[in-house]
Amino acid sequence: MVLTGLQSQAQDHSHRLARALKFPDVPGYKTLKCDLHQHTVFSDGSVWPDIRVMEALMDGLDAISLTEHLEYQPHKQDIPHPDRNRSYELAIKEAKNHDLLIIRGSEITRKMPPGHNNAIFIQDANKLLVDDSIGVFRAAREQGSFTFWNHPHWVAQRKDGVARLTDMHRYLIKENLLHGIEVVNEHTYSDEALQIALDHNLAIMGTSDIHKLIDWEYNVPKGGHRPITLVLATDRSQEALKEGLMQRRSIAVFNDFLIGRAAHLNPLIQACLTITKTAWQGNSDVLNVTFTNNSSCAFTLRNTGKYSLHNQTDVITVPANGEQVVQVKTLQRMTDVSLSFEVLNGVIAPGKHPVLTWKATVK
Ligand SMILES: [Zn+2]
Ligand SMILES: [Zn+2]
Repeated sequence: MVLTGLQSQAQDHSHRLARALKFPDVPGYKTLKCDLHQHTVFSDGSVWPDIRVMEALMDGLDAISLTEHLEYQPHKQDIPHPDRNRSYELAIKEAKNHDLLIIRGSEITRKMPPGHNNAIFIQDANKLLVDDSIGVFRAAREQGSFTFWNHPHWVAQRKDGVARLTDMHRYLIKENLLHGIEVVNEHTYSDEALQIALDHNLAIMGTSDIHKLIDWEYNVPKGGHRPITLVLATDRSQEALKEGLMQRRSIAVFNDFLIGRAAHLNPLIQACLTITKTAWQGNSDVLNVTFTNNSSCAFTLRNTGKYSLHNQTDVITVPANGEQVVQVKTLQRMTDVSLSFEVLNGVIAPGKHPVLTWKATVK
């Protein structure tokens, strides 16, 4: 049955479904869940823009951008549209009665270099139909764009799957025309892109680059989820989101992996994973410590502390939105117990995981 506009507006699915992605705020910042690279029928995607809004609401996202290819319009015969802002306008209309930020964006679609790049927070996509490959970045910047390099490791443009900077990219970075880089795109991750982000102070991005259905592509019914970018923002607004990205306060989420600079990732992990209960086991000197995971990512931890564990090997898992009891052999009773773990699903540089300490206080 087709609902009327009024009935449809009354149904707010956001933050209600079990599938909604959850990441806690960190001290001083709101953690905004964003998917800033998506397609609809207004470029080479298969769905109308309102579907992207509905998917984002079901996933509990804070912000999305429909970044249609400027130079690739395969559905133009069926859906002629002289106005490249149309996709954004339809999304805004759908999102009107919902709590979702819609960011205006476009995908600058060129051969390598510069490859594909998303310009977001722009004012008018029509004005980005510029032939010159560097000129288009300047035109985006004039509109206040935050611009990031999409899938620098895409095998269609990099046969070996290795992201490499070109002189053109170095120039774009130097001229403040390029601000971020996808380290995660769709089903792929790039160590080399992460290293480029760290070496050249670019924002670390993760996106779905969805063309068809989120549920189908990412197996949502079986517990999967799309890649997203978490942005640490001073509040939940477009301005604060842009400021957070410009300041490089971002973390890419890829399956259960969290990829970001230690300064941003460590406080996020500490907010996700907290000790909620401690108790001595009977008369023994073994302490039961309950870890609670307030996030949608399962955590895998390797014990690097001075105590061995009674119910686990050195590697433990704390399920998403779940708990894990760790039995710690402290050898004697004490009031403060310090536990250290290498967070194996956190990535702060290629092959590098953060080592963090949790304090358990016992009555
Ligand atoms: Zn692309
Ligand atoms: Zn794309």
